[in-house]
Amino acid sequence: MTTQPVQKNDTLEVTFTDLSHDGAGVAKVKGYTLFVPGGLPGEAAEVKVIKTKKGYGFGKLIKFIETSEDRVEPPCEIFDRCGGCQIQHLNPKGQAQFKYKMVTDALERLGGLKEIKVHPVLTMDHPWAYRNKASVPVASREGELIAGFYQKRSHFIIDMDHCLITDDTVDEVIQEVKRIAKDSGIEPYNEETHKGILRHIIVRVGKQTDEVMVVLVTKTDELPFRKRFIKELPEKFPQIKSIAQNINKKRTNTIFGNETRILWGKETILDTIGSVKFAISPRSFYQVNPEQTRVLYEKAMEYAELAGKETVIDAYCGIGTISLFLAQKAGQVYGVEIVPEAIEDARKNAELNELTNVTFEAGPAEEVIPNWYKQGIKADIVVVDPPRKGCDEALLQTILEMKPKRVVYVSCNPATLARDLRVLEDGGYKTIEVQPVDMFPQTMHCEAVAKIEL
Ligand code: SAH
Repeated sequence: MTTQPVQKNDTLEVTFTDLSHDGAGVAKVKGYTLFVPGGLPGEAAEVKVIKTKKGYGFGKLIKFIETSEDRVEPPCEIFDRCGGCQIQHLNPKGQAQFKYKMVTDALERLGGLKEIKVHPVLTMDHPWAYRNKASVPVASREGELIAGFYQKRSHFIIDMDHCLITDDTVDEVIQEVKRIAKDSGIEPYNEETHKGILRHIIVRVGKQTDEVMVVLVTKTDELPFRKRFIKELPEKFPQIKSIAQNINKKRTNTIFGNETRILWGKETILDTIGSVKFAISPRSFYQVNPEQTRVLYEKAMEYAELAGKETVIDAYCGIGTISLFLAQKAGQVYGVEIVPEAIEDARKNAELNELTNVTFEAGPAEEVIPNWYKQGIKADIVVVDPPRKGCDEALLQTILEMKPKRVVYVSCNPATLARDLRVLEDGGYKTIEVQPVDMFPQTMHCEAVAKIEL
C-alpha cells in the first residue's frame, strides 16, 4: 500500500500556486507537488498525472477551469518546445509580480530575511529583441545541419530560424552562418559520438556601436571553408568587425575551449553603457541585456554611495564594467575576475576610458581578495557580482574580516543571494534594501541588487 495521494493516470482538478524553475505550473495535492507545464499561478485546471516520483510528480493539462487574467498568447512559434524562454504566456505585469515574489520568497525562506525592503521590479518597456548575444549549438538531423536552442530539460536541439528575445541583427547573422555551413557541407558536431567539426555559433553585437562579432567553435584545429566564412559574412553584413574561431576538443557541455584565433578583423568589438566604452573579446562575459544593464549598474552606483575618495573592490568584475563605472566616482578601484582574457579586456577598457585609478588582477576572487587584504588593501566598499552559484564562502569570510562599511551585491540568482546575505547578516551586516531588475524578460531568470551595511 502506498500513501502517495496521486497515482499515474489519475485525472484531477488542481489550482496552480507557483511556477517551477523551468516555468511549469506548480500545484499541491494534499501536500504532494505536481508540476504541470502550461499552468500559471491562480489558474485552475483538469490535469492527468503522467509520472510520479516520491514527493512529486508530473501532469499534463487536459482543460482549464479558470484562467489567469495575466495569460497571453505566446508570440513565438517554438515556445512550447524551446528551452530558451519559459514564461512568454505570462504578460509583463504578471512576470514582474512573479519575479518580485521569487526574490521575496528566496529572502524569506532561504535567508530567513523577513522585513527587508524589496522594491517593485524594474522592467523593460519593450521586453523583446533585447539579447545582444546568441550562442547556438549545432547538430545534424536526418542528414541536415541544424542549429538552435536546447529543448526544455534535454540536449535535443530545436532548429531555430528566428528568436524573439534576440537582437534582429544577431538573429540574421546566425541564419547567414547556418546558410554557409549548410551550403559548404561542413560536418556538424555530434555530442554522442564526439565526432564532427562545428560545435557552436556565437554572435554578439555592441548595441550602441552596431559592431558584430562571430565566433565559430570547432572540435578540430582546422575550420574547413574558413575562406568562405571570412569572405561571405562581412560582404553581406558590413557590421561584422571580427570573426574568430575557438577550439574545443573536449567531451563537455562547456561551450568554449582554451584556444581562440582571430580569423578576420579585430580582436574585440566595442560597445558603450552610459558614458563608458567597452572592448569585448570572444570569451569574455558581457551582460546580455545592455538596456537593463545600465539600469542595474546605475542602481549599484547609487547603493555604493560614493563620495569620491573611497577604496572599492569589485569582485567577479568580468571585463571591468562595474569597476569602471565605480572608478568615475571613487578614489581607487580593485577588480578581480577568473577569466584572464576578461582581465586583459578590463585593462584595455580602463585605458580606453582614461581611468587610471583602477587595478585589475586575474584569479579566483576567494584567493585574490584575501591576498590583497594581507597586503594591506582594505576596501571601504565591496561590490560582488558572482555567477549563479553565488559567492565563495572564503570570500564572504574575508569580507567579514575586512569590514567594509558597505557591500553592494549584484545577483543573478535570488536563492544564492539569500544564502549569502544570511552569512553577512550573521556576521554583523544589515540588508538595507533590494532592487530586482528584469534583465531577462520571458524567462525565469531574475537579477537583483542589494545594499548591505555594517
Ligand atoms: N560584473 C561583470 C561580470 C559578472 S558575471 C559584469 O557585470 O559584466 C560573473 C563573472 O564572474 C564572470 O565574468 C565569471 O567569469 C567570473 N567568475 C566566476 N567564478 C569566479 C571566481 N571564483 N572568481 C572570480 N571571478 C569569477
